[in-house]
Amino acid sequence: MSEERCDVLVVGGGPAGLVAARETCAADSGLEVLVLERDRAVGAPVRCGEGVGSKGVSEFLDPTGANWIARKITRVIFWAPDGTEVRVAEGDVGYILDRTRFEPALAADAGREGAEIRTGTEVVGIARDGDGWIARTRGPRGDGVVRARVIIGADGVESMIGRWAGLDTRVPSRDMESCAQYVVSGIEFDPDAIYLHFGDQIAPGGYAWVFPKGVGVANVGLGMVALKADGRPAREWLHAYLDRYFPTGTRTGYTVGGVIVHTTVKRTVTDGLILCGDAAHMINPLSGGGIVTGMKAGRLAGRTVASALADRDTSAARLQRYHNEWMALMGEDHERFYRIKEALNKFDDDFYNRLARTVNGIAPDKRTLGRVFAQALMQHPSLLPVAARYFV
Ligand SMILES: Cc1cc2nc3c(=O)[nH]c(=O)nc-3n(C[C@H](O)[C@H](O)[C@H](O)COP(=O)(O)OP(=O)(O)OC[C@H]3O[C@@H](n4cnc5c(N)ncnc54)[C@H](O)[C@@H]3O)c2cc1C
Repeated sequence: MSEERCDVLVVGGGPAGLVAARETCAADSGLEVLVLERDRAVGAPVRCGEGVGSKGVSEFLDPTGANWIARKITRVIFWAPDGTEVRVAEGDVGYILDRTRFEPALAADAGREGAEIRTGTEVVGIARDGDGWIARTRGPRGDGVVRARVIIGADGVESMIGRWAGLDTRVPSRDMESCAQYVVSGIEFDPDAIYLHFGDQIAPGGYAWVFPKGVGVANVGLGMVALKADGRPAREWLHAYLDRYFPTGTRTGYTVGGVIVHTTVKRTVTDGLILCGDAAHMINPLSGGGIVTGMKAGRLAGRTVASALADRDTSAARLQRYHNEWMALMGEDHERFYRIKEALNKFDDDFYNRLARTVNGIAPDKRTLGRVFAQALMQHPSLLPVAARYFV
């Protein structure tokens, strides 16, 4: 059995873990940082719609001419349950990534800063080891142990690191969305737009999406709350959706996965350990997007860990700064978004159909999200209590 040591062990080579590793090394190049990823490659297999906002992603990698962009997006189109189309944002909206190239680009940056990225190696358990941690690992080199002064748990939606460390990472079942997605070729849609499609007959408690990877090819998927789905799995809902809206498309790739549409876990740190990204439920609960939020959390985690190690204080009390900074940066917004999600869940398809028609009454060039909301309030007074509670 191999035995090795490092200063910081990052568990998980997704966006959160790779940015955490990069930022730790960038803050202190003397630290030994090891990233362990259980899949055989970072970024694959893809379990994601791959949509990101352009502003958010640009904080981490330069998109100019980047090979990790599959498509630039310049508009957002909502489809109401009855099919009414609403075009909202126009401009520099975002990108559809190619995550098989995006994560390698993040990994290359982390490697340049000095981190070691090791794929095909899983952490199968952790235990306290003096002031640090000992992690049991399993990989192509056989079983081993890694002793680390700090662990950053960035092990995604099925995180075990938090649980092993005694943090409460349970998710209420109503806040766990089941998702299914195909890459579909040979279909017609606006390749510069992302489409979001709502409705109880489409994706109860969630939405369906069409995210273009190119002309005629898109990630088409849906996420829904299993409790509201008549016992039918997401895959069945997606088949029905594709049969109805894209019957001629060729389904070339398939993925399923869970998205936690909850708020940040109450405790993200303990002695010598930090959780970030999906592992700490740092996903936007309204959109289900977790790539950029995970990277923002990874950046905070890396910087906090480097400064805690420099101060020789990795106690939970010291690492709590990370939690507080995250809550001020995004965590408190997520709590507001969560309450909005809860409120919107109470409306039926008829409400969304009426809202879509109201919004279409606004001139397209004036259709900012703020105006849409203001109009919605005026024409649908039933929204007022929601606004009063959550926006004022
Ligand atoms: C169908 C679907 C569609 C989505 N669409 C979007 C979207 O369009 N836009 C968006 O922003 N978000 C989307 N998301 C969410 C997004 O994928 C995640 O929020 C994001 O990947 C979180 O990053 P992360 O680094 O926290 O976790 P992950 O990307 O999940 O990375 C965690 C990594 O840890 C590894 N790992 C786990 N356990 C261990 C272990 N014990 N040892 C070693 N390695 C381990 C995993 O293999 C994984 O690579 C979608 C999710 C799903 C399921």
